[in-house]
Amino acid sequence: MRLSDPTLLETRAFLAGVWVQGGSRIAVRDPARGSLLAEVADCTRADAAAAIAAARAAQPGWAALTGKERAALLRRWHDLVIANADDLAAILTAEMGKPLAEAKGEILYGASYIEWFAEEAKRLYGEIIPGHQRDKRLLVIRQPIGVVAAITPWNFPNAMIARKLAPALAAGCTIVAKPAAETPLSALALAVLAERAGLPKGVLSVLPSIDAVGLGLEFCENPAVRKISFTGSTNVGRILMRQGAAQIKKLSLELGGNAPFIVFDDADLEAAVQGALVAKFRNAGQTCVCTNRIYAQAGIHDAFVARLSEAVAALRVGPGDEAGSEIGPLISVAALAKVEAHLVDARAKGAVVTTGGARLEGTFFQPTVLSGVRAEMQIAREETFGPLAPVFRFDTEAEVIAAANDTEFGLASYVFTRDLGRVWRVMEALEYGMVGVNTGLISTEVAPFGGIKQSGLGREGSRHGIEDYTELKYACLGLS
Ligand code: ADP
Repeated sequence: MRLSDPTLLETRAFLAGVWVQGGSRIAVRDPARGSLLAEVADCTRADAAAAIAAARAAQPGWAALTGKERAALLRRWHDLVIANADDLAAILTAEMGKPLAEAKGEILYGASYIEWFAEEAKRLYGEIIPGHQRDKRLLVIRQPIGVVAAITPWNFPNAMIARKLAPALAAGCTIVAKPAAETPLSALALAVLAERAGLPKGVLSVLPSIDAVGLGLEFCENPAVRKISFTGSTNVGRILMRQGAAQIKKLSLELGGNAPFIVFDDADLEAAVQGALVAKFRNAGQTCVCTNRIYAQAGIHDAFVARLSEAVAALRVGPGDEAGSEIGPLISVAALAKVEAHLVDARAKGAVVTTGGARLEGTFFQPTVLSGVRAEMQIAREETFGPLAPVFRFDTEAEVIAAANDTEFGLASYVFTRDLGRVWRVMEALEYGMVGVNTGLISTEVAPFGGIKQSGLGREGSRHGIEDYTELKYACLGLS
């Protein structure tokens, strides 16, 4: 990887404002080629405890700044991210595998949260409530929740961490973050730029670690940590909830999804196909808002499957740093095995491959469309997290709403129709935190991102995103 600023490729951990080598190392590999990219500091549970202690010590001073002062710092950090976007994208593609254009998009998307929350830092308004008695006045203020611990996944190595650091810092919290062991370089590069922006020591720590369990326990059991913000699997979300129960730890959880994508007969066919392409094949299908189940109504079904298959067959598969690549490798052999297992199960139960269907070299997999998919197949229940698009046929609105909601997940959903009444009915009936109507792309810093049911707790982005890092305090003022 060639960088204009090689110092962005940091392999030490950022512990309370000091760059530390640590004892053992984490090997970071290029998922497209399997080659070794870097060896990164492997932090211990004791390192996490030290970072938390420093975050606790730094928090009152950080919170004492005005919103405008914190905003100025975040703004500088944002500007540095933008100025170094090409290098950050190259690092991201190298460690995660997504096409360079998508990586650049992710850097800008991550930066948009830093910009947004820098602006919101100035707007953490309280409220005055009319007194309930003649000699009483009631006021409500928002205060930072305190020290936050963040745990992030590998699929958006920059944006998932930016989405947590920015609102926490804007609100006046200090934060200790553990990125995924597969992709620590993007998180460390963000820390390099945060330090350059002038973030005070102790306010931020970024600790890569193989010992996810140990750091997770420290975050849950250390009373100085007031909140945990996690993005990852529902299973680990459950573990953190269980572990945090003893201290009633506050949690924000962005967990798995099983997004339905519904195409009604009256949909604009081409728009639906393009929507399905981005909703399914972005990041090679490795996003929590990727559709996992496409429902096409009987009247449009065959044309939709034919056109989608044609478009999917044209997608270019290759290493993310090769010009023109649209589908990169999967993150690991285990991820590939899951895609294959879902495919084998669906075929055995009668589904038909209309394009793709084969494993390529390394962890590359052909983008694939399956038709004739039914509810009893594994793919209908579990998130595939790969480039496999299963299409179900349906007849009525009521039938598809019931099928779409028949899951424990509730993150993203999509519906394509030109009937305004149906837009409202279906949008209201879908048990999901987010609905894309005639679009396959819904993520933006200005809207509340998050799920219901077992897809999580809390929201990231929008003015609600900063509220998750604050506590309300109410004061009752007696006038006598
Ligand atoms: P994925 O399937 O995307 O890897 P995970 O939920 O396993 O999803 O991982 C998301 C993040 O959670 C990663 O940073 C990982 O290291 C971390 N993690 C995994 N297991 C635990 C755990 N028991 N406690 C805390 N964090 C964990």
